[in-house]
Amino acid sequence: MFDDLRELYQEVILDHSKRPRNFGRLEANNRRARGHNPLCGDILSLYLVIKDGVVEDVAFEGNGCAISMASASLMTEIVKGKGEAEARELFERFHRLLTSDDADPDLLDLDKLAVFAGVREFPVRVKCATLAWHTLTAALDGQTDDVSTED
Ligand code: ZN
Repeated sequence: MFDDLRELYQEVILDHSKRPRNFGRLEANNRRARGHNPLCGDILSLYLVIKDGVVEDVAFEGNGCAISMASASLMTEIVKGKGEAEARELFERFHRLLTSDDADPDLLDLDKLAVFAGVREFPVRVKCATLAWHTLTAALDGQTDDVSTED
């Protein structure tokens, strides 16, 4: 990866962790879930308004490392307005981006999610980056128990 690209990625992650988008409680939610990454101590609550299979609104609150908070912030921006199936598919591609070694250009075509490509070099941080997405899946599934990255 080029150094200037890496710097840009770090800037985006820092910006989202300092000023997370869609941060707060969404009282009118009809799906919600809590996620926990015990390895790092990241916790978050995710609130969704699902209407006709589409994510109409989404918000989260919680605290954790910069990667977990930035990932949650970017995730809420990206899934808002998307269908449930599309949101789940995005998570699958995102997960592959973070865990597979081959630099498949299709996997990098993930818009802003590509900023987390560098996380691949730090396997322990993959759980920080995917916590928000695991929590999203749990919320979409209607799961009410807390979801942990260690389950
Ligand atoms: Zn973390």
